[in-house]
Amino acid sequence: MSKFWSPRVRELTPYIPGEQPRERLIKLNTNENPYPPAPGVGAVLRDFPTDHLRLYPDPESRALREALAREFGVEVDQVFVGNGSDEVLALAFQAFFCQPQPLEMPETTYSFYPVYCRLYGVERRPLPLTADHEVDLAAFSSDSGGAIFANPNAPTGHGHSREAIAELLGRVTDSVVLVDEAYVDFGGESAIPLVAGHSNLLVTGTFSKSRSLAGLRLGYAVGSRELIEGLTRVKDSFNSYPIDSLASAVAIAALEDHEHFEACREKVITTRERTRTRMERLGFTVLPSQANFVLVTHPAHDAAQLFAGLRERGILVRHFNTEALRDYLRITIGTEDEMESLVETLETLCG
Ligand code: PMP
Repeated sequence: MSKFWSPRVRELTPYIPGEQPRERLIKLNTNENPYPPAPGVGAVLRDFPTDHLRLYPDPESRALREALAREFGVEVDQVFVGNGSDEVLALAFQAFFCQPQPLEMPETTYSFYPVYCRLYGVERRPLPLTADHEVDLAAFSSDSGGAIFANPNAPTGHGHSREAIAELLGRVTDSVVLVDEAYVDFGGESAIPLVAGHSNLLVTGTFSKSRSLAGLRLGYAVGSRELIEGLTRVKDSFNSYPIDSLASAVAIAALEDHEHFEACREKVITTRERTRTRMERLGFTVLPSQANFVLVTHPAHDAAQLFAGLRERGILVRHFNTEALRDYLRITIGTEDEMESLVETLETLCG
C-alpha cells in the first residue's frame, strides 16, 4: 500500500489475467484461437510502407470503421474502435455507467467488470445465474444504472438468443444495455441487428478470439450514434483511439477474409463438441458452450488438483479461485492434437 495512491486505487484488486508461460506448454487458459490469423494479415505486415509509420494515424480510424460498418450492415458513425475490447469496455463504464443507481451484471461473468466498477466508482448489483448456469435476463430491472453481460457468458459459455435479448430491451429502455460479444462467433447469435431499433443497446466485440489477433489489441463497439458519440467524448481525454495505422491495415485484411474466418470457427466448434463428448465419458460435467472454451467439473476430482496435475504435465488451463467457480476448470478449445493430449492426460489423472 502506498500513500501516493488515490483512495480508489488503494481498494483495488488488480485483474490477474491467465498466465503467459515462458516454456512451451499447451496453452488452454486465455481463450486465444489456436489457428493463425488470415493469410492476408501476413501480406499486410510484409508490404506495409514503413514511411506510413512516420505519420500520425487517421484520427477517426475511418478505413477500419468503414470495414466494420460494411461487415455488420450499419453506418460508419455507429462504430467505435479501441485497443482491445477491454479498452472499449473501460470507456463505456466511464461514458454510461457512472450513474446514481447501481450497474446490474451477472454474479458470475467476465471478471473485469467488477474491476472497472471499483476503478470508476460504479456501484454493482450482482444477479445470480439461473440453476442451469445461464445469465438470468429476467432479473435485470428497468430502473438500474445500466446492464452489462457477456453473451455467450464467460466463463460459463451459455449464450442467449437474439430474441431473448430483444425481450430484455423491451423492458430496459432508460439505461444502457451493453452486450459483450467477445465469443459470439463460436455459435452464439449477435445482437447487432437489434441496434437499429434500440438506441440504448451497445454491442462490443473483439479481434482477439475468432480473428486470431489477440496480440494486436483491437476491439470495437456497435451502437446508436448517441452511444458512439458518448464513447467518443470520453476517449478524447485519453491517448487511446485512433487505432495505429499498422493494426488498422491488419484488422481490415482479417475482416475481409470470410473463408478463413468460417473455416477456423467451424474447426473450433467441431473440436469443442468432440472434446465435450470425450470429457463426459471421463465423468466430467461439461456446461453447454457456444464459446471457444468449456467450463467443466468432475464429481470425484478436485479442480485445483486437476489444474496442478495438468500444469505439471505441460497443459495450462484456467482455475478461478472464487467461491462460485472453485469446483470448475475453464478449458480453451485448442487444436485437435492439443485436445487429444488434454483428454489423454485427464484419463491418467482421473483413472
Ligand atoms: N470480454 C470478455 C468476456 C472476455 O473474456 C475478454 C477477453 N479476456 C474480453 C472482453 C477482452 O478481450 P480483448 O481486450 O482482447 O478484446
